[in-house]
Amino acid sequence: KLILAFESSCDETSVAVIKNGTEILSNIVATQIASHQRFGGVVPEVASRHHIEWVTRCIHEALDEAQVSYDDLAGVAVTYGPGLVGSLLIGVTAAKTVAWAHHLPLIPVNHMAGHIYAARFVGDFVFPQMALLVSGGHTELVYMPKEHEYQIIGETRDDAAGEAYDKIGRVMGVNYPAGKTVDEWAHQGKDTFHFPRAMENEDNLDFSFSGLKSAFINTCHNADQRGEKLNKNDLAASFQQSVVDVLAEKTMTALDQYSVKQLILAGGVAANHGLRDRLNHDMARYYPQVKMLQAPLKYCGDNAAMIGAAGYINYLHGDRAGLDLNAVPGLSFPRLTPVEE
Ligand code: ATP
Ligand code: MG
Ligand code: FE
Repeated sequence: KLILAFESSCDETSVAVIKNGTEILSNIVATQIASHQRFGGVVPEVASRHHIEWVTRCIHEALDEAQVSYDDLAGVAVTYGPGLVGSLLIGVTAAKTVAWAHHLPLIPVNHMAGHIYAARFVGDFVFPQMALLVSGGHTELVYMPKEHEYQIIGETRDDAAGEAYDKIGRVMGVNYPAGKTVDEWAHQGKDTFHFPRAMENEDNLDFSFSGLKSAFINTCHNADQRGEKLNKNDLAASFQQSVVDVLAEKTMTALDQYSVKQLILAGGVAANHGLRDRLNHDMARYYPQVKMLQAPLKYCGDNAAMIGAAGYINYLHGDRAGLDLNAVPGLSFPRLTPVEE
C-alpha cells in the first residue's frame, strides 16, 4: 500500500511516498531556513508563501522519484496540527485537492505522532512503549499503551528544548536554527558554568527550560558588561549538559513509573549527539531490557516520510477526514492525569 504524505507545519515543505508504512520510496524536503535566518526565527507569513510556491513541485518530485502515479496510491496523509495555522493550511489544502481529484481517502496525522514514527524506520514498534519527544516547539514524554494510542505523561511548562537552543544560540551569534552548531561547540568544551537543572529533583515528569535560558543570558550579559569574553565552547557544553541531564533523568524516572518494552527518541533535538550518547549509556546501565529506537539523524527534523509512516497506522485504524478537514494549530495528545501519590 502506498501513501502520499504531506508535511507543512512549520518551515519545511515536504512530500513523500511511503510503502507499507516503513519503506521510503521518496521524501522531498524543501527547506526555507535561508529565508528566515535574517529574522532570527520563522516568520509565519513568509513560511506560508514558501509552502504555496513549493508544494506542487514537491508532489511532482515525490511521485517522480518513487516512480509511481496517483493511481497507485492507497491514500493521502497530511499533518493537520500542531503548527503554524497558515503553514498547515497549505499542506491540508494540497492533500485535500489530491484526495478529491483522485478519489483517495484523506488521512489526518498529528505532527508529533509523525515525529515518533521517524523511529519506525530503524525498527519495529513493540507496545507498551514510551517516547521522549524533543523538538522546536515541544518537549514531552508520551506513553503509548498500544498502537495508535498516545498519552502525555510529562511536558515542558514553558520553553521547548529546541526553542531554548535557538534562543541561547542567538545570544552567541549563531544563525537560526542553532541546535546543531551549539551541539558541535559543546563537544569541544566543558561544563564549567553549572547552569541550573530545573525540576530535576521534583516528583513529576514535567520540564522547564526558561530558567536555564535566563541564567545563560544573564551570564553572557554580565560578562559583557565587565568586558570579559567567555569561552563559547564551555558555554555551549554547560548549557547542553544541563539540558541533557534533565531530559535523561526525567526519562529514567518515567521508565521507573511506566513499565514499557521500548523507548523512542524523536524530534529535531533528538539529533543532538550529547543526548543520544547519554541515553545510550543510561539505558544500557539502568534499563538494559528496554530497547531504544532513536530516529535516524536524517529524519529527526520535519519531513513527510515520518508523516507517511504515522499516516499508514492511522489508515489501518480507519482514520479518515472529509474535505472539511481544518488545520488545528494547537493539536495535542491527551494528557494523562498524574498518578496520585
Ligand atoms: P515541533 O515539531 O515541536 O512542531 P519544529 O517542527 O519546529 O517543532 P523540529 O523541526 O522537530 O521542530 O526541530 C527543530 C529544532 O531542533 C530546532 O530548535 C533546532 O535548533 C533543533 N535541533 C536540530 N539539531 C539539533 C542538535 N543537534 N542539537 C540540539 N538541537 C537541535
Ligand atoms: Mg523545522
Ligand atoms: Fe517538528
